[in-house]
Amino acid sequence: MTTTRRRVEQQESAPAALPLEASKRLLKDYYAGKRLESPVGGFLELLALRPGPDGSAIAWFECSASSLRYELVIPKATRTEKKKIKDQLARGLDPDCPRHGPGYRLTRAGRDLVCSLCGISYGKG
Ligand SMILES: [Zn+2]
Repeated sequence: MTTTRRRVEQQESAPAALPLEASKRLLKDYYAGKRLESPVGGFLELLALRPGPDGSAIAWFECSASSLRYELVIPKATRTEKKKIKDQLARGLDPDCPRHGPGYRLTRAGRDLVCSLCGISYGKG
């Protein structure tokens, strides 16, 4: 296959942002609510969380030192995560975010069960 996948659905109103590599470590720190270090020094301050393509979410950051904008793609819910939520619903529980952990309740947005910190829908309620 020679087709290159290009992301063309950047929001027009949004300022240009540099992509951050969604490494396991970075995502882990993000879910843990840790301050993320900016690639150019300083810290990344979360500006906004927007729905991304295919059920993912995009977190926008501003670097405290350089004022550069960065974006991090937060991966969509996995099958395992969705199943976990389904199981909890079936047992009559209010599901927590599978990434943020206990105490971080998912909230309903329409029929979706969404974590407001991930911006990800983990199931239908
Ligand atoms: Zn979450």
